[in-house]
Amino acid sequence: MTATYITTTIPYVNARPHIGHALELVQADVLARYRRGGGEAVRLQSGTDDNSLKNVLAAEAAGTGVREFVDRNADAFAALGGALSLTVDDFIRTSRDPRHRPGVERFWRACAADLYRTRYEGLYCTGCEQFYPPAELRDGRCPDHETVPQQVSEENWFFRLSRYAEPLRAAITSGRLRIEPAGRRNEVLAFIDAGLEDFSVSRPAGRAGGWGIPVPGDPGQVIYVWFDALCNYVTALGPPGAEAYRRWWAGPGNRVHLLGKGVLRFHAVYWPAMLLSSGEPLPTAVFVHDYLTADGRKISKSGAGGAPAEPAALAAAYGTDAVRWWLLREVPRVGDADFTVGRLVARADDELANGLGNLVNRVVAMIHRYRGGRVPAAPQAAAPDGQRLAAACREADAAVGAALDDFDFRRATAAVWRIVDEANAFVSQARPWELARAERGRPDGRAHLDAVLGQLLGACSVLGRELAPFVPDLAGRVRAQCAPGGDGRLPAARPVFRRLSASPAGLRVEEPEQEQQHQGTDDRSDDPDGVEAVDAQRVVLDQVLQEAAHERAHDAEDDGTEEADGVTAGDEQPRDGAGDETDDDKHDDESDHAGKLPRTRVLCPLGRIVMNPS
Ligand SMILES: [Zn+2]
Repeated sequence: MTATYITTTIPYVNARPHIGHALELVQADVLARYRRGGGEAVRLQSGTDDNSLKNVLAAEAAGTGVREFVDRNADAFAALGGALSLTVDDFIRTSRDPRHRPGVERFWRACAADLYRTRYEGLYCTGCEQFYPPAELRDGRCPDHETVPQQVSEENWFFRLSRYAEPLRAAITSGRLRIEPAGRRNEVLAFIDAGLEDFSVSRPAGRAGGWGIPVPGDPGQVIYVWFDALCNYVTALGPPGAEAYRRWWAGPGNRVHLLGKGVLRFHAVYWPAMLLSSGEPLPTAVFVHDYLTADGRKISKSGAGGAPAEPAALAAAYGTDAVRWWLLREVPRVGDADFTVGRLVARADDELANGLGNLVNRVVAMIHRYRGGRVPAAPQAAAPDGQRLAAACREADAAVGAALDDFDFRRATAAVWRIVDEANAFVSQARPWELARAERGRPDGRAHLDAVLGQLLGACSVLGRELAPFVPDLAGRVRAQCAPGGDGRLPAARPVFRRLSASPAGLRVEEPEQEQQHQGTDDRSDDPDGVEAVDAQRVVLDQVLQEAAHERAHDAEDDGTEEADGVTAGDEQPRDGAGDETDDDKHDDESDHAGKLPRTRVLCPLGRIVMNPS
């Protein structure tokens, strides 16, 4: 069984997490889920970089003890696991994890042949935790932080990076160390070609405020935070020889680092050189993502004024699926992307509610309406006109796999989305409601509609499976809708995803306005159940009504004959649907209905969270 070890970078905890952190975590989680689904053994690791000098400075600025400050922010990062439905197997905190410090010390000693102590003078940006050669500054300021770096003169330990230009170049050009996208690989090769200089790997303990890991045998120095942090990828596995280490790092499997473009050099040059020095295997792949801005502005690294677009708050307000979907569907493989709540809502409504939610809802509602909820036998071949849909279903998994091998999350989601588009096109073309009319009074005429419904439900099941790595919670609801219960019938049609913008609360309001969630015809008088049941069902009815009206409009455009027999889809579908489903609703509301719908999450907190505090 292939073993794949996937890591995220471990962020500084000088502030609370922002949407940019969520991007990398979600990308890593998708890779992990997809590979697990394919039968691989996967270990997904994340964590926090506690030992940064920036944490010390931020704690001082906040008037808090470093330990308390670091713990509080690290907890917020750890909590993202739940908020974003991440399947993190191990979360390492570099200041607290008992595996880390001995691992760093061991790694340091393993590199001893390349470590030496010397006096160094240079311009140091605390924000970057990095010395800058004057040529890389912009008007004398850090290109990243736009602050004037400190002139520092001190004794430091250095790592003999200059020895490793050739082995690094060979590893990268041979593909043994794969760097994606290609532009980043070229950037690294150009950096190596320009000449590698030895780099500082320690600093005086005094300048570090006593925070960090002392250099073994030289307690006046602490290990440079980057050396310390990079080691997390192996310290969590135990010493070389430990079972976890042999399995995940020394074995023949994949070792994949995800990281942002700002730390490319550390991961694609310094870290591999450190591994070469210590005699350990290199990562097999490094995937570099670009940055997110929020509302057109760079996301502040200092965290001053509160982190913009906090992922946990976004997930609480709009649901985990909507947040994940935006990150995966809109952020390009190359190039920065701008996050706004409006874009998140528009994407979720357009695709998850209208595209996918409507599809699943219509299909399940039609199977209830026309077949009493019993799934027609799977068709032997695709229904007439169903070949394109069949192909989309058949090809999705391989297309997703190929896209994820390229770390192309947009291409991967597009491959799944093709099924939704083809299925919706198939419904419009096959017109199941006309087939249902045609088969009335013809007991032998059921085969065509059976084939159409069977294929559509099959497509929904494929979507439930293929969407699982991307929007796991939503995919679970889709699968639940497609699975017959003990009585052989599908569960009642219920929304798998609610429109977020149906209420102004979805964008920015102070008070919950649940009454504005739905804007269709009021069908409450037909429903004997309580308000909750009505609320849940109304979305279904509204969707069916809107869809039916839409279909009528299309029919009229297509051939102008839709009213020929005086019975329209719009007239019959919702009423039949409501009738079919009433019994189920009563039952469901008393049992697991509330548990399956994130109703409280979606309806209630929306009104209380203002996404753009100013
Ligand atoms: Zn800087």
